Amino acid sequence: MIQNLKCSSSSTLLDAMHVINENTLGVCFIVDEFDNLKGVLTDGDIRRAIMNNKPLNALLSEIANDDFVSGYEDEPIEELITKINKKYEDSDTEVTVVPIVNRDNKIVDYFKYSQKSHFPVAMPNLAGNELKYLTDAFLSTWVSSSGPYLNKFEENFSNYSDCKYGAAVSNGTAALHVALLALGIGKGDEVIIPDLTFAATINAVIHANATPVIVDVEKNSWCIDPIQIEKSITSKTKAIIPVHLYGQVCNMGKIMLLAKKYNLKVVEDCAEAHGASFKDRKVGSFGNIGCFSFYGNKVLTTGEGGMCTTNSKEIIEQIRLLRDHGMSKSKRYFHEVVGYNYRMTNLQAAIGVAQLERAEAIHKNRTSYEYLYRKIMPSSFEFQKNINGRNRITWLVSFLVGKNSDYNRDQLISIFLEKGIDARPFFYTLSEMNIYSKYAQQDNIHAKGISRSGISLPTYESLKSLSEIEKIVNSIFKR
Ligand SMILES: *Cc1c(COP(=O)(O)O)cnc(C)c1O
Repeated sequence: MIQNLKCSSSSTLLDAMHVINENTLGVCFIVDEFDNLKGVLTDGDIRRAIMNNKPLNALLSEIANDDFVSGYEDEPIEELITKINKKYEDSDTEVTVVPIVNRDNKIVDYFKYSQKSHFPVAMPNLAGNELKYLTDAFLSTWVSSSGPYLNKFEENFSNYSDCKYGAAVSNGTAALHVALLALGIGKGDEVIIPDLTFAATINAVIHANATPVIVDVEKNSWCIDPIQIEKSITSKTKAIIPVHLYGQVCNMGKIMLLAKKYNLKVVEDCAEAHGASFKDRKVGSFGNIGCFSFYGNKVLTTGEGGMCTTNSKEIIEQIRLLRDHGMSKSKRYFHEVVGYNYRMTNLQAAIGVAQLERAEAIHKNRTSYEYLYRKIMPSSFEFQKNINGRNRITWLVSFLVGKNSDYNRDQLISIFLEKGIDARPFFYTLSEMNIYSKYAQQDNIHAKGISRSGISLPTYESLKSLSEIEKIVNSIFKR
């Protein structure tokens, strides 16, 4: 590889262009006849040389830039990075590939580095017992959809969510789908859902052959509005799916009263709110069934995965039947219903067990991000509200760019992206997408307003990035 980076000082500009073209690193290292490092030539240097009318047969010895950064093989990496950063600050040239030489000035390696940081919106932290349990599950050969970690994960997670039973499934969407089926919801039944949610909520209703009814959300919580739910109830209404959005908690008190009054089922979509609670009881324990997702960007992850939680033995048995091809537990290969393969593997569950062990630490860490952002961002941004009785959690730190703000939502996202911060706009409302608009009866002004002004920011546990993010955000808002 080093050979592909070298160019002799007696070769020409055109030779160097060929070398750079082949190695695709945008740079070549110039060596003299004794193979000693003499200089570095980047594609930028070549561009400048051509613009200064240097001919293609100009010798590299005439063009090479001798003010370059290199490292020694026995030099601590921090010192090298300091040199690179200094060069960047002094000359504003981005150094990406640096030659590493031995004390005889012979190239032995190269180092690739970028000043530009990148903070993805989410990144799982798997630094606890995840690898240990995963390896254990792997070595045990219980790699498919039964095994001790599955039982343990179901038991521990349902316990964590204040429920008696849990059934692990392949993902959060499957959890919602199978939950609706287990409650007997299907053709001709109406299911009330919020306009502001991830599309999996409505897809699950459509997959169950039921009819979604989209309603507006509360302005202050961003979650489904009980008043709008009641207005939309008809003789066909069978269920409500409250979605605990961005870690916020729905008004479960009012929703459960409505469910009782009108005899409706409740399936809680808790995909974004593991561990959140309403009046000291965890979400997922209020409705007939709670549905969770363990996708990679959720608070707890198993890679892909989901769980249904419930306090009903009958319901959990129905879910277990449906997720496993509808096959009778007592009579092998005898199918009682048309089922699905919605199982989770023991490998995924092993990761889940380890994640759950650190649930409190994970929450604490995410909260520290929220504190930081709240502290350093302009006060015209409206962060998620803490509402009495609703104990929200931090999923992705989210805020609205208010109408009186100096910033425009989409411009602000571009500024964040330019600085390497992967800011995300909120979900589109369901009702503004062609495939779903027919399920909404009215213009849902709160959902629309929130959807158009909301931004989510990188939120994950890595204390190192906390200080870097602080620096970047401060530079954006010039504090
Ligand atoms: C992520 C998510 C889902 C779906 O979960 P998957 O595991 O990706 O299928 C459902 N509802 C909401 C609100 C979500 O955020």
